Formats: sequence, C-alpha cells, structure tokens
Amino acid sequence: MEDPGRVVGVGGCWAQSVKDEVFERFPFVDVAFGPGQIHRLAEFLTQDSLTAQGYFEFEDFSGHLPAKRARDFQGWVQISVGCNCVCAYCIVPQTRGREVSRRPGELIAEIESLAAEGVREVTLLGQNVNAYGRDLPQEERITFAELLSRVDAVEGVERIRYTSPHPKDMREDVIRAHAELPALCEHIHLPLQSGLIREHVPDCALTTDIIVGFPGEADEDFAATLDVTDRVGYDGAFTFIFSPRRGTEAATMMDQVPHPVKRERMARLVELVQRRARERAQRFVGRTMQVLVEGPSRTDPARLRGRTGHNKTVNFEGTAEPGELVEVEITGATSTTLSGHERLLSRVP
Ligand code: SF4
Repeated sequence: MEDPGRVVGVGGCWAQSVKDEVFERFPFVDVAFGPGQIHRLAEFLTQDSLTAQGYFEFEDFSGHLPAKRARDFQGWVQISVGCNCVCAYCIVPQTRGREVSRRPGELIAEIESLAAEGVREVTLLGQNVNAYGRDLPQEERITFAELLSRVDAVEGVERIRYTSPHPKDMREDVIRAHAELPALCEHIHLPLQSGLIREHVPDCALTTDIIVGFPGEADEDFAATLDVTDRVGYDGAFTFIFSPRRGTEAATMMDQVPHPVKRERMARLVELVQRRARERAQRFVGRTMQVLVEGPSRTDPARLRGRTGHNKTVNFEGTAEPGELVEVEITGATSTTLSGHERLLSRVP
C-alpha cells in the first residue's frame, strides 16, 4: 500500500448489505459500518490503535449527530430513519430497518436551537417523511402535516423543505399545508404525483425520480413513462438507469433490459425532461421572486447565486450577502437555472 498509515473505511447501506464478506472481498478495508453506526465512527477511529477490523451492526438511530452545516443559514434535520415499504429495487429496508420516528418535542427543540443560531431554511429528512409519527407512542403521535405546522411556528424559520415523501402516504393535509403555511416552500419532490397538488398549489414546482429499464420494461411501458412525464410537465427530474442491487427482489427478476436499450431510453427521457423543464421555467420570467442567497455564482463570481422557494437556482446581479433573503427580478430561464437582478431596496427582513 502506498500510504500504510491511511485508514480506509466504507459506510452506509451498501456496506451493511455486504457485511458478511466486505473484509474478505476488500482486504484493504479497515473499518466498515452500517447507516446506524455513523455516530460511533469517531470513537472507533480515535482508538489508540486500529487493531481489529470492525463491523458495527445496525442498532441505533443516528439522528442525534451534531449537525455539520455547509452554510450557517441552512440546516438539515433527520426526522425518521428506516422504511416500511418494500420497493423491489431498493436495499434500504434491509439495511436501515423499520421506520423509527424521532419525538416531536425533541425535533422542535433542535429546530429552535438551529433558528437561534441563524438557520433560516430547514430541510426535514426521512426515507418516507409522510409516514412520520406512526410508530410513536399515542400520547406523542402527530402527523407529518402537524409536524410541519409546528416547525412553521418556530420563530426565525423562513423556509421549510422536506425529502423524501412517498406518494402512497401523501395526504391532502400535507398539500393543504403547502397552501397555508407561510414558511413551507412551493416545491414538492415526489415520485409521480396525482392531480391534487396543483389543485391546491397551482404554482407548485414538481420534481421527481424516474428509473429507466426496470426488469420487464417493454416499449409500451417506456412510452407510458414518456407520456406521463410530458403530461405532468416536471420542473426537473432525477433520472436513473436501473442497476441491480444484490439482495433485492429486482436483481433476480427475469427480463432484464439490455444495457444499450436502457441507454437509448434514458437519452430520450432526459431530452423530454429538459424540454418540459425549460418550458415550465418560462413562467417565472418577468416575475419578482424571493431568493435566499447562497454565495457567488459558480460560473461567474461577479454575480450571486441563490434559490427560490420553488428550489430553482437563480444567478443574478446584486450586492446581497449569503443568508439574506432578497427580491430578484427574473429575466431569463433555462431548464435548470433562472437569471435576473436584485431589486434595489429589496431586502426581506
Ligand atoms: S420508499 Fe424509498 S427507501 Fe423505502 S423501499 Fe421504496 S425506494 Fe426504498
């Protein structure tokens, strides 16, 4: 080994899924751990000598880790871990176990302290946030919509986002919350939506995840994917070529789709997603939008970069500081970004 002092570790769902053979197959690995043990990693690595290869079983909830924030004004809060669904392609239920929600009182206390430290935008994290609370004891049980409302009431929180929701558990109360709670952003990332969202929040940005080439996907199935993508008109989508995860049901299914076919379908899907996103983005041109400033533009440091409540990146001319909310007049739109200029005297307190 070039650098014998270096410690090699692998962590997360994949490590957990190959736990019985990780050290055998990859002898250079010193430490491996599942998603539930990340909070113990420092303790493990600071032992005087790393003598034994270690593997930590899934046994705990890692939501209590102190948060490391890339930006002082944005915070991520894990509200639950694990998943009770059984999607055929996904390894998460086997590696993260059944769903465990954190108690609402603890979450609100954490969010209050984040807000006191200057966090203005909070993103709530969970595998299926809509199922939040169902496993809690009755006296503490609240729905995800109720949790959103309590977070909205925290002084200093100006924006709330969440990921990921699950369509089977997306209820009208959450969609109504988007229409009613001032801090809840007008953006929903959801695998294929029903018409309900745009009925209540007509301007809502919709984004999604799409897998291409799932086993057995016939030409007609893919045509249906294109059709729904075209009809919904997503503001953006994460698109993936299906790849089998060992240990999942989908990995052993017959009728795996040949790779060249997957690639060709992927190219057609991406072209459609981008075209529709570009068309959708034109609705912002000419509007004045509230933007949370994140820093300098990645392509032109003389300009600023920020994000609208719709989760659109905006590159704009202005003088604001990171963490400020400003009003920006939108003058141009591509499939992924908006451009514009800050309105003078536009600072939002
Ligand atoms: S809902 Fe998400 S995390 Fe749960 S099994 Fe399906 S893909 Fe995996």
